[in-house]
Amino acid sequence: MQDHDERFKNLAEDAPFEHSPVMPTMLDGDTELKFRCHRGVKCWNACCSNIDITLTPYDILRLKNHLGISSGEFLQKYTVPYEIDKDGTPGVKLRSVDGGTACQFMVEEGCSVYENRPTACRYYPVALLSVRRSDEYVDRLSFALVKEDTCFGHQEPDTQTIDEYRAGQGAAEYDEKGRVWRQLILKKKSAGPAIGKPPAITNQLFFMVNYDLDRFRAFVISESFNKTYDIPVEEMAELIADDEKLLDFGGRFLRHVLFNEKSIEEKDGAYEARQDRLKAKAAAIRAEFEANRDQIEDEKYCAPPGQPGDCGCGSES
Ligand code: SF4
Ligand code: SF4
Repeated sequence: MQDHDERFKNLAEDAPFEHSPVMPTMLDGDTELKFRCHRGVKCWNACCSNIDITLTPYDILRLKNHLGISSGEFLQKYTVPYEIDKDGTPGVKLRSVDGGTACQFMVEEGCSVYENRPTACRYYPVALLSVRRSDEYVDRLSFALVKEDTCFGHQEPDTQTIDEYRAGQGAAEYDEKGRVWRQLILKKKSAGPAIGKPPAITNQLFFMVNYDLDRFRAFVISESFNKTYDIPVEEMAELIADDEKLLDFGGRFLRHVLFNEKSIEEKDGAYEARQDRLKAKAAAIRAEFEANRDQIEDEKYCAPPGQPGDCGCGSES
């Protein structure tokens, strides 16, 4: 409870909209929550009729297995991509029904995927926040309350702590499995411009490893991956057979590749070969720039034809 207001004093300013239903107060797990959602409440299904739900990698794993489809098919049918931050870190949200705002999994009785519903649905009306202070190495979970006029669960007399509510919703497993992903996003944000502005290929890799698990599996068993990484046979067998192990491995793999946190054995000479490839690529880009330097300079400084400053080269830039 101590210095919440100090630690999170910017939260109100950071609220997404002027009239955001997210209350600008950070809450602990032992905060009392007065709330109950049940079939008899008059707003039944109101929250699922107008969705804005970010999916974690573990949410996708659970839902695609519940539906018995591949991650690629799931992404195509049930999600929309979005950018988590200004550096283009990719995220995915649940896609609503065609031409409407309701969740595709909503049925009259409630949620048709209830036992595998996403983290955000388990938490509602609590918002899960992953925060890291500048003087801390690890993130911590904190919470906020979402109070929407359409939700009458707040008028029910039942009370419990936020931690009790989370336990009742089976949130612990989802928190644990989503942790690496949340940390990666925080770390990307705080890593500064060198890592914060990744090339498109890096974001594509981030997307595949986190959200398109079946494609990541195909990558892990590919020849090119195995030329570089030295994965013991037993571990490789587990990665092929077990989605959760593969997702955990994906987190390690991204830390290895994005932040140079060496946790995966590389084959002899693989690092050097990768450096050589990068150097060759940089040299090719430099050579192309030098070859086109005159034209680039002209294009940069020439005014459009007919305008003052036009040198007559025909450039329209
Ligand atoms: S997944 Fe279930 S709980 Fe979540 S919005 Fe859809 S219907 Fe509602
Ligand atoms: S709007 Fe609130 S009370 Fe109503 S169904 Fe949704 S969570 Fe339950």
